[in-house]
Amino acid sequence: MGRGSDGDLDTSEVQKMMRQIYYERDRERGIERTMLRMFQELGELSEVIMERAARDKIESEFADTFAWLCSLANLLEVDLSSALLSKYQNVCSRCKSSPCRCIDTP
Ligand SMILES: [Zn+2]
Repeated sequence: MGRGSDGDLDTSEVQKMMRQIYYERDRERGIERTMLRMFQELGELSEVIMERAARDKIESEFADTFAWLCSLANLLEVDLSSALLSKYQNVCSRCKSSPCRCIDTP
């Protein structure tokens, strides 16, 4: 697996890693139940944020949430990296500015 010089994984590498580790089980579980698991993880992330849990717990829930999002994308054959790049080309997808200048989003 390729990594940047600073050891970071890019989105595409993370998604591939999750496919490698979980795709078979994700496929057995199916799209709907995988979606439910992703919502569960989002709930857990919300909880640790709201209770101001320790930094490592919050980071761990972010990791889980992103992992489940990758699983769902893998099942739907969505390339997250391409999807992000095609929608956000360094500017806001709506107002095409960076920083965003949309008036209705705080
Ligand atoms: Zn905008």
